[in-house]
Amino acid sequence: MTQMISSDPVPYVDLAAQHAPLKADILAAVEGVLERGDFILGGAVEAFETRLAALIGVRFAVGCGNGTDALQLSLRALDIGPGDEVITPPNSFVASTSCIRLAGAMPVFVDVDETYNIDPDKIDAAITPRTKAIMPVHLTGRPAHMERILAIAAKHQLAIVEDSAQAILAEFDGKKVGSTGTLGCFSLHPLKTLNACGDGGVVTTNDEKLATRLRILRNLGLQTRDDCAEWSVNSRLDTLQAAILLVKLDHLEAWTDARRANAARYRRLLANVPGLTLPTDSPRERQVYHTFVVQAERREALRAYLSERGIGTSVHYPVPIHLHTAARELGHERGAFPVTERQADRILSLPVHNTLRPDQLDRVAATIREFYEESR
Ligand SMILES: *Cc1c(COP(=O)(O)O)cnc(C)c1O
Repeated sequence: MTQMISSDPVPYVDLAAQHAPLKADILAAVEGVLERGDFILGGAVEAFETRLAALIGVRFAVGCGNGTDALQLSLRALDIGPGDEVITPPNSFVASTSCIRLAGAMPVFVDVDETYNIDPDKIDAAITPRTKAIMPVHLTGRPAHMERILAIAAKHQLAIVEDSAQAILAEFDGKKVGSTGTLGCFSLHPLKTLNACGDGGVVTTNDEKLATRLRILRNLGLQTRDDCAEWSVNSRLDTLQAAILLVKLDHLEAWTDARRANAARYRRLLANVPGLTLPTDSPRERQVYHTFVVQAERREALRAYLSERGIGTSVHYPVPIHLHTAARELGHERGAFPVTERQADRILSLPVHNTLRPDQLDRVAATIREFYEESR
C-alpha cells in the first residue's frame, strides 16, 4: 500500500498550479483592460460587483483595496468610531481586530467554541451600552452560528459585520455568509479561495444607503468629482484585478467542491487516529474549507515529521490576537480566553487547496497515521 502513495512534495498551497490552466484567459482579460484603458473604477469593477452581489444573494457589492479595508470601511459606514465597542473573537487573523482599532473603536473579545467560531452563549455578557456591532468571523470557511447571532443583534439593536474573508460560498441554514448580516466583508487576497493576483476586497449588503456611503468612503470621500463629503482613504478595487476575478468567478463553485471533496476524503482517511481531532460538521452548515484544521497532540513534532517528508502545513493562528504586541493596550492576560488559547497550541492546517491531487492527500493522511503509530 505504501508504495502506491506518491512521494512528491505536497505544498501547503500551490498558486502556480491554480493559475496554469487559467493563464490564457487571465492574459486576455488583462489585454482587454489595456485596450480600454479604464484603469481606475473601470467597467470590470462594476461587472465584478454585479456578479458577486448576485452570487452572494444581496442587492449590492462594493469593491475595495483589500479585506482589511472592507472591514474598516464597513465600520466607518456604520458610523462606528471612538467610544464605541465591537464584539469579535480573539481567534482570527489580526485584521478582524485591527480594523476595529483603525476605525477608532474598541474590540471586545468573546471566546470561541469547538467550531473555532465565536461562542454565541458568551456574547450577551460582553454587551455594554457602548456596543454597536458584532463582528463574527467565519473562520476556516465554516459559518459562524448566524441564527443565534442575528437574534442577539436584533434584541440589542446591534449591527452585524460578517468577516467572511475565509468563507465565500459557505452557508448557514441555506443562506450564504455575507448575506444575512448588515454588511459582509470578503478578502480577495491570493491565499483566499476567490483570489486576485494581488490585493482586493469587497463588501456585500442589502442596504442601499450603506452601499452608497461605502462607494464614497473607498474613493477619498468624494461624493462627486469636485466635492469631498468626508475625509477618507483611497481604497478602490483595481480594474485589472476585477477583470482577473471575473475569469476566476467561473471556477469558484468547482474550486469549492474540490475543497469540500478533499475535506471529506481527509475525514474518511483520518477517522479514529488517536491523538487527532477532526473538525466537526453540522447539517445546517455548508463549510467551504478555506483551511482544514485538525487538533493534534504533539503538534510541533507532527509538523516537523510532515515537513521532513515534504508535506507543508500551516497554523491559523499560533498567537491569539489578544496576545499580540499591539494588543497590549487592551490589557488582556494569558488565560483570558482559554478555549482560543488551548486551541492555538493544538491546531494544524492540512493542505486542502483545490489543486491538491488525491494521491497527495492520501500521502498526507498516511504520513499522519504513521507518525502516531510510530510514537505510540
Ligand atoms: C485574510 C483575512 C482578512 C484580511 O484580508 P486582507 O485582504 O489580507 O486585508 C481579514 N479577516 C480574515 C479572517 C482573513 O482571513
